[in-house]
Amino acid sequence: MLVAIVDLYVDEPSCLGVPPYISPYPRYLWGAIKDSGHTPIYLTIDDFRERMGYFSRNISKCRIVCLVGGAVVPGRYLRSAPASIKEAEKIAEFISNMGKIVIIGGPMSRFNLVQNHGKFDHVCTGDIDACVYDFLTGKNFSERRRSIHEWNRWAVIGAEVVLHHRDHPVPLIAEIETYRGCVRYFTGGCSFCIEPLYGVPVFREQKDIVKECTALRRLGVVNFRLGGQTCFYSYKAKGVGDLERPRIVPEEIKLLLSGIKRACSPAVLHIDNANPAVIAEHEDEGRKITKLIVEYCTPGNVAALGMESADPEVIKRNNLNAEPDEVMKAIGIINEYGRAHGKNG
Ligand code: SF4
Repeated sequence: MLVAIVDLYVDEPSCLGVPPYISPYPRYLWGAIKDSGHTPIYLTIDDFRERMGYFSRNISKCRIVCLVGGAVVPGRYLRSAPASIKEAEKIAEFISNMGKIVIIGGPMSRFNLVQNHGKFDHVCTGDIDACVYDFLTGKNFSERRRSIHEWNRWAVIGAEVVLHHRDHPVPLIAEIETYRGCVRYFTGGCSFCIEPLYGVPVFREQKDIVKECTALRRLGVVNFRLGGQTCFYSYKAKGVGDLERPRIVPEEIKLLLSGIKRACSPAVLHIDNANPAVIAEHEDEGRKITKLIVEYCTPGNVAALGMESADPEVIKRNNLNAEPDEVMKAIGIINEYGRAHGKNG
């Protein structure tokens, strides 16, 4: 059976999937559909917006259509934009009228942004890949999360969806997820943020991330961003669950970055998201990790730090992450090694 994936594009605090990026979600979903013995096809919100004939011809061949995406933290975009809720509902209505089963997943449904549930046959609050896999293998829709085994397996099988992306092979950038969740989850995290809702952070092993990058590289992808985590420096940190600022571990970062560099020789290797509080608290480790990022990643890289307010009362009331002096200290540490311009930025 043909199953359509419609990429609504993603913008979350720790995941970007607006072209030229492709988020991991449609890739995992592609892997899950193939793993269930069915055949996925890939369409996007832009096909719906700009190529209606192409879109409806492809949808007409499918029995099930999975919409995945949503913007939790909308930004400014240069070439396209994530689907709005209205657009998602419009697509769902259009597809439903063609007699298809419509499932929606990703941040738009996980964080209850979908208002009109009646437009969809299933609104998935767990991982859509796991939900669809269960349905296609004869079970009911589930609201579970993918297991770590499924995560790594579907990431590799699903890499081939990139062949259908309009930016493949370049300027496509594959967003890679190294872990899920925030180390501050047990404090409730910052008041505005959805990441603590994922609970205890789950880290992927370096070898599994390298395998995924290698699969993508074999399919022609040369640009990678390790953007799928709340803080790159905190990857596999020690003391998660006990410490709000767990000890960051340069050796783990080295294993990850050197593995990707060796296996893929990326044209672009960037990171996203860094927690200034952990860098300021563990300054020696923070320096070592910054040096590793400079050594293994490519120019134009950004360690994006979040600072929502310098007002002590706002920080306290919103349980924010870092004090202004900690942010300044982290900036200083990063700039010691990372401020020089590379050959292209
Ligand atoms: S530190 Fe705050 S903003 Fe950053 S991921 Fe955790 S809860 Fe979200």
